Amino acid sequence: MDKVEGQDGEHLSVGAPKTWAAGLPGVRHALSYALSQTSPRRTALTLLNLNQATGLDCPGCAWPEPGRRHVNEYCENGAKHVTDEATTRRVTREFFREHPVSELAGRSDQWLNQQGRLTEPMVKRPGADHYEPIGWDDALGLLAAELRGLDDPDRALFYTSGRLGNEAAFLLQLFARAYGTNNLPDCSNMCHESSGVALIDTLGVGKGSVSLDDIHDADLVFVVGQNPGTNHPRMLSALEQTKRSGGSVVAVNPLPEAGLLRFKNPQKARGIVGRGTPIADQFLQIRPGGDLALFQALNLLLLQAEDERPGTVLDHAFIERHTTGFAEFARHVREVAWADVLAATGLSREEIERVHARVLASEKIIVCWAMGLTQHKHGVATIKEIVNFLLLRGNVGKPGAGVCPVRGHSNVQGDRTMGIWERPPRAFLDALEREFGFTPPHKHGLDTVGAIQAMLDGRAQVFLGVGGNFVRATPDSEVTERAMRSCRLTAHISTKLNRSHTVCGQTALILPTLGRSDRDVQAGGEQFVTVEDSMSQVHASRGRLHPASDLLLSEVAIISRLARLVLGDRPDIPWETFEDDYGTVRDRISRVVPGFEDFNARVAEPGGFRLPNPVSERVFRTPSGRAVFSRNPFARLEAPPGHLILQTLRAHDQWNTIPYAGDDRYRGIRHGRRVVLVNPDDLAELGIAERSLVDLVGVWHDGVERRAPAFTVVAYPTARGSAAAYYPETNVLVPLDSVADHSNTPTSKAVVIRLEPAGQG
Ligand code: SF4
Repeated sequence: MDKVEGQDGEHLSVGAPKTWAAGLPGVRHALSYALSQTSPRRTALTLLNLNQATGLDCPGCAWPEPGRRHVNEYCENGAKHVTDEATTRRVTREFFREHPVSELAGRSDQWLNQQGRLTEPMVKRPGADHYEPIGWDDALGLLAAELRGLDDPDRALFYTSGRLGNEAAFLLQLFARAYGTNNLPDCSNMCHESSGVALIDTLGVGKGSVSLDDIHDADLVFVVGQNPGTNHPRMLSALEQTKRSGGSVVAVNPLPEAGLLRFKNPQKARGIVGRGTPIADQFLQIRPGGDLALFQALNLLLLQAEDERPGTVLDHAFIERHTTGFAEFARHVREVAWADVLAATGLSREEIERVHARVLASEKIIVCWAMGLTQHKHGVATIKEIVNFLLLRGNVGKPGAGVCPVRGHSNVQGDRTMGIWERPPRAFLDALEREFGFTPPHKHGLDTVGAIQAMLDGRAQVFLGVGGNFVRATPDSEVTERAMRSCRLTAHISTKLNRSHTVCGQTALILPTLGRSDRDVQAGGEQFVTVEDSMSQVHASRGRLHPASDLLLSEVAIISRLARLVLGDRPDIPWETFEDDYGTVRDRISRVVPGFEDFNARVAEPGGFRLPNPVSERVFRTPSGRAVFSRNPFARLEAPPGHLILQTLRAHDQWNTIPYAGDDRYRGIRHGRRVVLVNPDDLAELGIAERSLVDLVGVWHDGVERRAPAFTVVAYPTARGSAAAYYPETNVLVPLDSVADHSNTPTSKAVVIRLEPAGQG
C-alpha cells in the first residue's frame, strides 16, 4: 500500500481491490467493531439472538433468513449494525449543553453516530443554538399543537425509513390519514420505487416473486446493478448454494465488486480455510444505465433463436395463456440496432452472445437487482424489459424462476404493505374506512422529492421523521437542507444522533426511541414487533437488551400518544389499547391488509409465514388479468466530452448514511471517504493525475453549480466513462429534479460530472 496525505487530516491508503468477500477477515472486523461499542457480554447476547427464529430481526437489510438457521445467522455488516445500536455510549443532556447545534452541524456523520444512543427527549427552541431537555408530555404536546394549528393537514409530512416495524408503520399511516393527509414519503421513494411501479404495471404486484428456495434451485441467476457483498451479504450464501446445486450466476455491474467474484462463507470450514466459491460465472462490466439495452439485446437474440428453431426457445403456451402485448413488443425489439446496444452497454457482442447461450441452456432463471437499475432515468423501463425477458421463456410463476428486487432497509417492503404510501390503492383506503369508521383522504400525498419541494416553497411546514436521516439520505443536499430549515417544526423519532437533528426547523424535537435490540415492555406486558423481508416472509422480532435509557418510548407508544393528543380520544381508534398491547394492532391489520388473516396466531409460529404472491401462482392482477409485455426504447446515457457519469455508492464499512469507519476494505481504500474512483484510461484521456485533489462539479440543465469539494482521484477498474464515489458526501451533486420517469426516484447512479482541480470553484 502506498500512502498519500488525504484531506481532513486523513491518511488515505489505496491498495488493490479485493477479489473475494467475507471469510475470517469479515468475522474479525465484525467482532472488533462490536467490542469497540459494547461489552463482550452484550455483544454475545445480541449476536446470539440475531436472526434466530424467536429472536431479533437484523435491521441491516431485508434479505431473508433460511428455514434452518445457523447459530451465527448473520453477516459482518449485520453484526456491526446491531452492535452499533447496542452500544453503551450515551448522548445525554450534558452532551447537548456542551455542544451547540451550530457546532454539531459541522461534525461528520461518523462522529455524530459514534456519540451513542439518545437518552431523553430534547427540544431546540426558535433562535436557540442548544437542544435542552423536555418531558415527553411537553414534547408531544408541542408537536401536537403545531399539527393542530396547521390550516391544512397537507402542510404536514410524515416520513419513514424502512426500519419501522409493521405495527408502528400501520399506526403511523392510520394517524396521518385520520389527521387528513396522505403525505407519507418514505425511503422506498428513493430506492425501489422504480421496481414497484414497473412490477405493478407488468405483473400486478410491486414485489419480488421468488423465495430463498427458488434462488437455490435456479439454473441461472442474474445479479444486476447490485453489490451483495456489502449491501446484502448473506445473499452470497444463497448464491453459493445455487452454484453448488449446479446453477450459474451472471453479474452485471459497472464495478467488479469483490462479493460478485468469490465468496468465503464464514459459516463453513471451506470458507475459512479454502479458496471459497466463485460466484459470477460471467461478469459483464456494463456502462452505467446500459442494462435496458442489454436485456433488449438478449430479448432480440431469443426472438432470433426462435426464428431459427421454431417452437424450441419461447414458451408459447405461457405467452398465449398468460400475457398480452407480445406482438407489439416483438416488433419493437426486432428493430434494435446492435451498434446502439454496444454503444449503450460498452460490452462486446460476443459477451452478450455468451450470456444468451447460458440463457438458452437454462430452464429456470431469476433476475435480481438493486439500485444500480432503479436510480436511473429509465429505471422503470429497464425493469419492464427484464420482465419481458423472463416472460419470453415462462420464467415467472414457476419454481426456481422470477423477479427479485433486493431491498436494503429491513422492513421497507413491510412498511409499504402496511400502507406507508403516498398513493394508496383505493381498496386499502376502503378497508381502513370500514375498520375505523372515518373517510381517509383520497388525494395523493407527497413522495420524498415532492416533500422537499413542498418544504422549499412553504407548502409544508411540519416534518415528522420516524427513523432515518432525511437530510443525508436525500438528493441535492444543500437544497434539502434549505428545505428543512424553512419548516416551522421538525421532529425526529430516532435512536442515535445524526445530521438531520442539526439541520432543523425553527423548533426542533428529538424523540428518542427503543432500538430493535431493546426489550419492549408495555402495560400489557412484553411486546414484539413484526417485519416483512424482501421475499414476503412476515415474522416476529424481539429485542432482549435493557433499553439505553429508562426515558425511551417505543415507536408504537410515541405515535399512539401523539395521535391521541392531535385527534382526541375516540372509541373507533383505541390508541391507548394499541400502545399497551401490540397484538391489538395486529388484530386490526389482519382485518385491513389482505394476506394477514389470523395474524397473531400465524406470526406466533417460529419463522412466521409467507404472504401470498399471486404472481407465483401465475395470477396477474393487471387490468387485463395478464402479464404485460411492454415496449421500452433505450438511449445511450452520455456525458459531454471531458465529463464522466458518476454513480454514488456505499463503502463496505458503512450502513446507509452512516459510515462506521473511513474504510472500504473490499475496494482497497483505507482512511478516506472523499475519493473518486475513475478508470485509469479515462484519467489519461482527461489528463488528470492519480491521487490529485479535485472538486466534483455536477452538470445539469438548470445551470446551478453543484460542487463536492476536495476528493482524491483513485485509479480504479470502473467501466469506461464512469466514476464512483460514496454517498452521502456526493448527494449534493444529485439534482432534486433529476428523477426516474414514472417513479420519481432520484437518479443517483447517473450524475454527469467533471473533475476540476480542487479549490478553483
Ligand atoms: S444479510 Fe442483511 S439482514 Fe442478513 S445479517 Fe447481513 S445485514 Fe443483516
